[in-house]
Amino acid sequence: MVSFELTDDHRLLEQSIREWAGREVAPRIHDLDRAHRFDPGIVPQMASLGLLGISVPAEYGGAGMDYIALGLACEELEYVDTSLRVILSVHTALNSLTLLAWGTEDQKQRYLVPQAQGTRLASYGLTEPSAGSDARGIQTVAIRRGDRYVLTGEKMWISLADVADQFLVFAWTDLEKKKQRDPTGISAFIVERAYKGFSSGTLTEKWGILAGNTGFFKMDDVEVPRENLVGREGEGFKIAMFALDQGRYTVAAGATGLIRACRDASVAYAGTRKAFGVEIGSHQLVKEMIAQMESDYEAARLLWLRAGWLKNLGRRNTKETGLAKWFATVASERAASDAVQVHGANGYSDEYPVGRFYRNCKGAVIYEGTREIHKIMQADYLLGYRTDRPARCTLPAWTRETP
Ligand SMILES: Cc1cc2nc3c(=O)[nH]c(=O)nc-3n(C[C@H](O)[C@H](O)[C@H](O)COP(=O)(O)OP(=O)(O)OC[C@H]3O[C@@H](n4cnc5c(N)ncnc54)[C@H](O)[C@@H]3O)c2cc1C
Repeated sequence: MVSFELTDDHRLLEQSIREWAGREVAPRIHDLDRAHRFDPGIVPQMASLGLLGISVPAEYGGAGMDYIALGLACEELEYVDTSLRVILSVHTALNSLTLLAWGTEDQKQRYLVPQAQGTRLASYGLTEPSAGSDARGIQTVAIRRGDRYVLTGEKMWISLADVADQFLVFAWTDLEKKKQRDPTGISAFIVERAYKGFSSGTLTEKWGILAGNTGFFKMDDVEVPRENLVGREGEGFKIAMFALDQGRYTVAAGATGLIRACRDASVAYAGTRKAFGVEIGSHQLVKEMIAQMESDYEAARLLWLRAGWLKNLGRRNTKETGLAKWFATVASERAASDAVQVHGANGYSDEYPVGRFYRNCKGAVIYEGTREIHKIMQADYLLGYRTDRPARCTLPAWTRETP
């Protein structure tokens, strides 16, 4: 039986994030954004709300909530600012849920537990200066030397690059396969900032998600213990794609929150601003923009909810999650552009939040699979050029934990 009812736990979660973000972040976000400042003080607050390990089982230090709760949290966080949701995307979805599915028990104890408790911050390093959509084009290598791997390379456009404690990093372990671009030569590693030869920096010319940290890190002969290999040698590409199934889900839900923020700001403004003697909301063309935001919001929400429902059941959801991400991010760009339009010249100023929404939404149309990559994926499924083969490790289905 399909149910569209949220549980009491879901509603309580939504309410507590709404109250916290409204009280602690909303009054400051304009200034943080203008100052291009990531506030590290927000992270422990999110941890104390249980958000950093929201869908991680309690046995690994998490809140043990279902994957719908993760989506709801993302929607609420991005309603206030994209930078908040990005923390959940890279730390919880791309990194922690990957360790939950693919990590050894030792890795879960050493890395997943502190991440879920929020005492260590994590991120995900796939993109490089010369390879984004084309992940097989990465140049980072990991050479096996005794009981260690020596990693050399540079990762670029990495969220939380300058603040995270540890990263899930992808590198070639088979140099012959690298030459042939055979992705079974890529492996995944946990790399700590504290390792010798690791350095990072912040990208200062970015023009959106300004209250978030985005940067690069370099690995110069970084020695990584063999125990930090995630999965088996050669499984890195599969692990990277698995992680994106969870990351894209959070991006979809977050973009849905951004559409709602655009809608609410536009409705409020259209009810007060007057033109030609009437509220602008009574002009049909303004109504059209607001109606489009509402239909995009509802459709985007249903798509991510369906993906979350599949995750709860432990079913493969790469296609559904990709569709949700593609639809919600493209719709959020439309909503943000129209929200600025509804606000007229005032929308073109940082005095109103819609300009920030407009700058923030574009990133999500690029990261975790560009709009074009997602279009190609959907067509390829339909045309039979793409099918999902069963994976060795899967995201565990959600089971209610008895206290
Ligand atoms: C704010 C932000 C945060 C990010 N955070 C992270 C992170 O935490 N970790 C991480 O690993 N990465 C991160 N990224 C990087 C992101 O994932 C990449 O930017 C993305 O994968 C696209 O790669 P690219 O920028 O190299 O663009 P390219 O791959 O060079 O693409 C350029 C253009 O060509 C198009 N294109 C490419 N290939 C095709 C094709 N086959 N068919 C049609 N069109 C194509 C693309 O759609 C795009 O329009 C982040 C990016 C941003 C902007």
